[in-house]
Amino acid sequence: MLKNIALGLLVVVFLSACHFKKKASGDATKTMDTMIVKDVHTLSNADSVQMQHLELNIKVDMDKKQISGCAVWTINNQKNARQLVLDTYDLTIDSVTVDGKSVPYTLDAKIKFLGSALRIPITAGSKSVSICYKTGSDARALQWLDAQQTHDKKHPFLYTQSESIYARSWIPCADGPGIRFTYNAHVQVPKGLMALMSALNTQEVSADGNYDFEMNLPIPAYLMALAVGDITFKSIDDRTGVYAEPGMIEKSRYEFEDVGKMVNTAEQLYGPYRWGRYDVLVLPPGFPIGGMENPRLTFCTPTVIAGDRSLVSLIAHELAHSWSGNLVTNATWDDFWLNEGFTDYFERRIIEQMLGKSYSDMLWELGYQDLVDNVKELGDKSKDTWLKLDLKGRDPDDGLTDIPYEKGSHFLKLIENTVGRDRFDRFLVKYFDEHAFKTMTTEAFLTYMDTTLLKDDSESKKTLKINAWVYGPGIPPNCPRADQERFMRVDSERIKFLNDIPAAQLNVTDWTTHEWLQFLRKMPPALSVVQMKKLDDAFMFRTTGNSEIADLWFIMAVRANYTAPYPEMEQFLSTVGRRKFLEPLYGEMMKTPHGTEMAKRLYAKYRKNYHPLAQESLDKMIMKK
Ligand SMILES: [Zn+2]
Repeated sequence: MLKNIALGLLVVVFLSACHFKKKASGDATKTMDTMIVKDVHTLSNADSVQMQHLELNIKVDMDKKQISGCAVWTINNQKNARQLVLDTYDLTIDSVTVDGKSVPYTLDAKIKFLGSALRIPITAGSKSVSICYKTGSDARALQWLDAQQTHDKKHPFLYTQSESIYARSWIPCADGPGIRFTYNAHVQVPKGLMALMSALNTQEVSADGNYDFEMNLPIPAYLMALAVGDITFKSIDDRTGVYAEPGMIEKSRYEFEDVGKMVNTAEQLYGPYRWGRYDVLVLPPGFPIGGMENPRLTFCTPTVIAGDRSLVSLIAHELAHSWSGNLVTNATWDDFWLNEGFTDYFERRIIEQMLGKSYSDMLWELGYQDLVDNVKELGDKSKDTWLKLDLKGRDPDDGLTDIPYEKGSHFLKLIENTVGRDRFDRFLVKYFDEHAFKTMTTEAFLTYMDTTLLKDDSESKKTLKINAWVYGPGIPPNCPRADQERFMRVDSERIKFLNDIPAAQLNVTDWTTHEWLQFLRKMPPALSVVQMKKLDDAFMFRTTGNSEIADLWFIMAVRANYTAPYPEMEQFLSTVGRRKFLEPLYGEMMKTPHGTEMAKRLYAKYRKNYHPLAQESLDKMIMKK
C-alpha cells in the first residue's frame, strides 16, 4: 500500500508517485510455516484449522449499499479442533452449515478494532463450512459512491480496501496476513456495470451482470478486493492494461504507457513476475490511499493522472509488492516493514533502472526527509520508531507511519552499500524465490540473512548494527544518504529567489515533480503574501494539475494566509479523497482559529466524498476540536 501520511509519501508515490507461505522448499525455511507466530489482530484459529479455499457467491446491491451471499470455506481440521473461529466485523450472519448440515453457531461480542469472533462447531472430518451473511452499514472495507461522487457522475461505484484488517467486514474469514488461501467467486451486480477482483478478470462488461473469478495462487485476506462500477478496459501490452471509468480511460492509458516496461524491469531485478497479468484500476477520486497492491489488479488513486506521466512511479511501488508483500508476506502487522521497506527499496531500484540514478536519488532524499519529520513527530525514543512494531491492543493502522517504509528501505539500502549491490541483489532474488507464497517474520528474516548473506562476514555485521535498526528507536547514525546532485541545483535556485531575483529568471528547465517539491519544501516556514504571489504568478502552482505540488502549495498558502488559491483549494478538497493530501492540509488549517473555522466549513461540505477510513481520521482531527 502506498502510505497515506503527510507528504511522506510523496516519494513513494509519485515517484513514480502505495501487503506467506505454503510449502517449504528449502531446509532453511522449513521451520517457518503458516501462523507460527501469534497474530494478535485475528480472532480466528487458523493456526489449528487450515483454511484451504474460499468459494464466494455474493450479490452486490448498489441501492441498499449491501453485499449479501455465502462464503464456503474448504478446511482441513488435522488437529481435530472442536470449533472453527472466524473474523467478522459488522456482518449479519443468516445461516451456517457444515458439510451441508445446519449447525448452532455463536457470534461473540464486538471487540474494538477486531470485530466479533464467529464460532462454528466442527469435527475432525469436517470439510466444508458455509456461512451466509450480509454486510452492515459500518463495513470499513467498503466505499459506496453515489453517481455524483464518481468521475463520470452517471453510475454508482463500489470498491473495497481490505488492508489491514477490513476483509472481515465484507467476508467472514481468517483475517491475518499469515493465513493464505485460494479463491473462486461468483459476483452478481446490476446489469451494465463491470465487476473486478484481485483475480483473473474479464475485459468486457457482462450482459447479465454475472461475473466469475478465479485466484488459484494462495493469498491472504487483506488482498481480497472487489470493484464494481461503470468501468472499461484498455490494453497496454500483452500482459498489462488499465481499467477506468470511460471518461478517464484515455488519460489513464496515456499516463500508464510505461507499465509494461516496468514489469519487465522488475523481473530483470528480482526474478519472474508470478501472477499472470498485471493490470491497474484507476478509481474515482475518493480513494483514500495512493495505491493498493491487490494481486493482478493494482487499485490506484486518480491523483497520479497528472497528464505528463510524472507521478506514475506510484505504480512501481504497487508493482514491487508483487514480490515483497504479495509473494513473501509479513507474518503479522508488527512485521510490516518486511512488506513496505522492501517495497520502497525495490520501487527505487525499478525507477533507477528506468530513469537513472540521479532521478532515484531524489526519491531517496525526499524519503529521508519524510523519515526525519516522522521521527520528530513520533519522538526519537518512541518504540513506534523501531522497525519491529508492537501493535498489541491497537489498531494495526497505527503502524502505518513512515517508519516501516522509510526506515525499512534505508536499512536495506545500508545493507546494499555494505555488502555491495551484486551480492545483495543475488541474495534478494534467492530470498523471493525460496519464500514465494510464504510468510515471513522479522526474526526469521534476520536469521535467514545471518545464515546466508552475512555468513562468515563479521565485518559487515559490525558495520550494519542490525539491532539498532530493528529493535532501536530513531534514525541510526549509519543511515545512508543519497547523492544530492540535482537537489543542490534546486537549492541554489531557491536561494536566488529568496534574495529577490525575479522568479521568472530562475533556471527551472526540465524540473520534475521531485525538484519542485524540494524547491517548495525547503522554503522558510512562512513566506510573505508578496513572495507567495510572485511564485504563483511565475509558476502557476495554484492551477497545477499535479496533486503532489498542489497539496503542498495549498498548505503553504494557508500558512502564509495567502488567499488567492482558496477557490482551487476548495475544488481540490471537494474531489480528492487521499488521506496523504487531506490530513496535512486540514491539519494546517486547524492551527489557527480562522483556519479552524474554514476547515470545519469545508469538511462539513465534503466529508461525504471521503472514504470511511479518511472520515475516521479527519473526524478525530476536525470534528472533535
Ligand atoms: Zn506499499
